[in-house]
Amino acid sequence: MSELSELYQQVILDHNKKPRNFRKPETFNHRAEGHNPLCGDQLTVYVQLDGGIVTDVAFEGSGCAISKAAASMMTQALKGKTTDETEKLFHEFHRMVTDDSANDAADSLGNLRIFSGVREFPVRVKCATLPWHTMQAALHGQAVTSTE
Ligand code: ZN
Repeated sequence: MSELSELYQQVILDHNKKPRNFRKPETFNHRAEGHNPLCGDQLTVYVQLDGGIVTDVAFEGSGCAISKAAASMMTQALKGKTTDETEKLFHEFHRMVTDDSANDAADSLGNLRIFSGVREFPVRVKCATLPWHTMQAALHGQAVTSTE
């Protein structure tokens, strides 16, 4: 087992057990629900946007360990980011987990890079990207999104 996949397992297990920002915030001005019918993941992402900056982001829902860990780590990565930076991270993350040639995952992804391994498991890609798609839907004013 490579170091990265060992780290991957540890981090996923940790975030699955203790998801960060797993709550419904008292105030939020963007919200969307996302589901991944392939796996049964279902989550709601809440975003508070103030002057173009993500001041709070949280989620609720149920799903597999990967979708939960991805949502948990996404909320940590996005807090304090501008909508432009958020958009950029979304695209970098998406590229990393879907593009085989993307071995140069952007440094800006930080610890999100542990998800690069899901690329080898197409079914899991949808689990890992669901929170991101849902966050995008929330910011773009769509109430519901699906990975299909
Ligand atoms: Zn899943």
